[in-house]
Amino acid sequence: MHLHEMSERKCDGHGCGHFGASRGTRKHQGIDLNCKPMTTVCSPVAGTVTKIGYPYGDDLSYRYVEISSQGYAFRVFYVDPMVTRGQQVSKSTPIGKAQDLGTRYSGITNHVHLEIKNAAGEFIDPTPVVLAQRA
Ligand SMILES: [Zn+2]
Repeated sequence: MHLHEMSERKCDGHGCGHFGASRGTRKHQGIDLNCKPMTTVCSPVAGTVTKIGYPYGDDLSYRYVEISSQGYAFRVFYVDPMVTRGQQVSKSTPIGKAQDLGTRYSGITNHVHLEIKNAAGEFIDPTPVVLAQRA
């Protein structure tokens, strides 16, 4: 499933899905897209897999995949990776299967999290990127 085919996560007891939403003392640095666990997730961009990482230091079962393209780094969180670092991907390449966030956050709306950093290392709002792909 492509990220642009998923709907935006609204608010639930754990927070809201939009860019800049409150996360306690921090701000949400990406957007959340509703996605059922085990859904096959496609890359949002053509590029190179530059990192397979861990969102949570205290639970290494959760993973993210980073794809770099033209100075931008796209990170897709909460997927069990189907790609490896150094791999070239296109927009239709499956990068992983969505994981179940409900075991960490009871009652949360299951989703994948997308964040995009520009070449200066700043988080940008992924919403226009996703909306453009919907058009
Ligand atoms: Zn998020």
